[in-house]
Parts: sequence; C-alpha cells; structure tokens
Amino acid sequence: MENKHKHIAEKEDELLKCLKCGTCLSACPIYAETKYEPAAPRGRVALIDAARKGEIDLSEVFRKKINLCLNCKSCVEACPGGVRSDDLILRARADLVDQGKFTLLERLIFRHLLKRGRLLPPVARWATFAGRIANKILPEKNPLTLFLPFPDGWKERIYPQIAKTPLRKRIPEVVKVKNPKMRVGYFFGCGTNLVYPEVGEALIKVLTHNDIEVVIPKKQVCCGTSIYNSGDFKTGIKHAKRNLKAFKDAKVDCIVVNCASGGLTLKKEYKELLGVDFDIPTYDISEFLINVIDMKKDFKKPEQEITITYHDPCHLNRGQGIKDEPRKILKELPGVKFIEMGESDRCCGGGGSFHLKYYPISAGIMEYKLENLEKVDPDFLVSGCPGCMMRFEETFLQREMRQKVKHPIQLLADAYPDGKKTVD
Ligand code: SF4
Ligand code: SF4
Repeated sequence: MENKHKHIAEKEDELLKCLKCGTCLSACPIYAETKYEPAAPRGRVALIDAARKGEIDLSEVFRKKINLCLNCKSCVEACPGGVRSDDLILRARADLVDQGKFTLLERLIFRHLLKRGRLLPPVARWATFAGRIANKILPEKNPLTLFLPFPDGWKERIYPQIAKTPLRKRIPEVVKVKNPKMRVGYFFGCGTNLVYPEVGEALIKVLTHNDIEVVIPKKQVCCGTSIYNSGDFKTGIKHAKRNLKAFKDAKVDCIVVNCASGGLTLKKEYKELLGVDFDIPTYDISEFLINVIDMKKDFKKPEQEITITYHDPCHLNRGQGIKDEPRKILKELPGVKFIEMGESDRCCGGGGSFHLKYYPISAGIMEYKLENLEKVDPDFLVSGCPGCMMRFEETFLQREMRQKVKHPIQLLADAYPDGKKTVD
C-alpha cells in the first residue's frame, strides 16, 4: 500500500524528540503575529505527528497550517530538544504535493517557468508591469480580485523593477584575469539575475580585483529553493542535478553565491533534504572573501561618508552560520560607519514567496523590524540576500522612507579602485 506520509516517516525520530515545552513559540515570528498555536512550530510538529500516526488527513486545512511558515529557522535555533521543525514542515509539504495538493499556479511556475530560464525575464517583466497598472487604475474592491493568485494586500504592493537586461545576458561565460589565483564558479540565482544584476556585476568586479577567474556557466538554472520549499521535491531534485552538471562541466575549484537561500540550497539542502550529493565546495561571497582568500584592502578614498546597518538573512545566519563575515567586510570600508541595529537577525517577513501569499502577516513582521531600524536611522540597509533586499526596498518605497538598500558586495566593489583588471 502506498505510504501517504513517506517524507514525514523518514524523520519519525525528529518528531519523537519534541518535548512540547513551547520554547519555540516565543521565537516564531508567525506566532508573534497571529498568536495561533496550530500555525506555530509546536502546533505544527504536533499536527505532523498526528498525520504520521494516521489520526488526521493531509487535508486542505492541514495544508494551510503547514504552509503558514517562513522557513526562518528561528524555532530550530531556540529549541532545547534540537527538533528540526523546518525540515519536518518541508517534508510535510512534500507529502502534500505527492498527494496532489499543489495549485495550478505552482505547477506552472515551478515545473515549467523556472525550468526555462529564458522565459523567466519576459514573464516576470510582464507580470510586474501588469501588477503596477492594476494597482494604479483599479479600485481596491473590484470583482477582478477574485482572479488574483495573491489577493491579500494587493493594492499596497510595489512590485520590483525587473532589469531590462538580466545579468545572464550582461556577462560572458568566463571572466579572465592575469595570473589567476583560483578559478571560481559563480551561481547568481534568480533575484540577482532579474532584479539586481548590478549586484552580480559588483561581485565579478570584486573577484577579478582579487585575481580570481570567474566562470558563470550558462547552463545553471534556478536553485529550486522556492520549488522544494513548496513541497515539490521531485522538480527540486531535477534543478539540483542540472546545476551540479553545469558546474562540474565548468571545472571550477569552488562556487561562490551572493544569495542566502541559494547558498543554503547548494551547500546543504540539495544533499540533506533532496538527497543529491552536490560535492563542489560552495561559499557565500562574504565567507569566501574573509575565510578563503583574505581579500585585498587597497581601497580608494571615499567620496562621501555613509551610515549603514546590516540585516542578517535567516538563510545566511541560521541557515549557514554566517554572521561575522559580512560585518568584517563592511567594517573595513573607508567612509562607512556601521551601526548595529537591535534584533538584526529577526526575520524580515519576506520568506521567499511567503509575503506574496500572506501579505498582512508579512507586513506585521516587517513593522517590528522597522521599529529597530528607525532607532539607528542609517543611510543604507545592507543585506546579503536579494529576497530580503526586495522586501525592504518595497517597504521603504511604500512609506517614502529615505533609506536605500544594498548588498555588502556592492559597497565593497564601490570601495575598490575603478578600472578593469580583466583580460580577454
Ligand atoms: S519543537 Fe522544540 S521548542 Fe518547540 S515544543 Fe518541541 S521541543 Fe519545545
Ligand atoms: S521556521 Fe520560522 S516561521 Fe516557521 S515555524 Fe519556525 S519560527 Fe515559525
């Protein structure tokens, strides 16, 4: 007989570890917003255990409770019993998808659109353009909202500007330098490719300035984070295998990533969750510059003084244990005053596609973040994740705040002397 709980059953021991102490509740941003136990970590673990024992079905109600999670990993950090609630939740979603609980939109985006990298830029451009027009001309209450995939808070949203030319088309497949120290593969991810190509260009400037040859395999695809996070492990595995082949063929010494979720996926989740042995050493760019190569510090004189603060992306800090490295880089930069904000590691509420589906909850979580940000009032909010950058940028625009958003690598690239060191 088919096992309806195949993925959950693999982690039965994890479920048995739960002490039901509730320590995770105080760490969970969703619980702080909703005060709703079934959508908090302890409640979700209990629901998953009940499903494993056959006491409840993998119903629509179950799906909604399991989906109301940012995968921020705060519960895992807080848990005295070491329960991997994050992992259990993703496995429960995988069982739901195996049972056919997967929307048509998710099927279209995850199984078709993200697979075809070339289609993504025009579709993203069209969708965000349509969203902006609808926002401008339609009243908040209108019958068309019945057809919107994410109706909550639709009128408040400000969609990201999709770059005219994605990063993939702006850069060659190999960027050479004289006497390279290393040959490094660059995995750029969808957010950098479509919304922040200047972050990718900054990364290439930094690496080549440090005498690193950069290979950007054209055959790399979306890492698949949002795909397997929605429970579609089968498609996630396909993406893992395609990326592994693309970078193996490129014969690189290691891979660098400037996206927190992409880095977590390549470094850990491909193997631990999806069972694909992605055996090429992979580093977040800040980790690479500080721990692997000892970056150059031949900075030019700054044109102006700026104040910055840093938001720790959940998938970089709790996901990969990288907290000090970006700060070490930022604190080296001339003309940059670093001010630490309170609870810098608290989730911003972005959660990949979470903010699209649960906009009011996401906005409430961001509100808490802003209280801490406003106390330090920096010129720039800096973060090592394009997803967090987009969420902050949208919020700053909505509230007409003066702050701008940057990735650490952009500030480092700006601090290095101009002029190309690359060779053909
Ligand atoms: S998941 Fe961890 S913190 Fe939460 S109730 Fe269980 S043992 Fe306690
Ligand atoms: S991962 Fe984050 S949002 Fe999800 S249950 Fe844990 S603390 Fe809550």
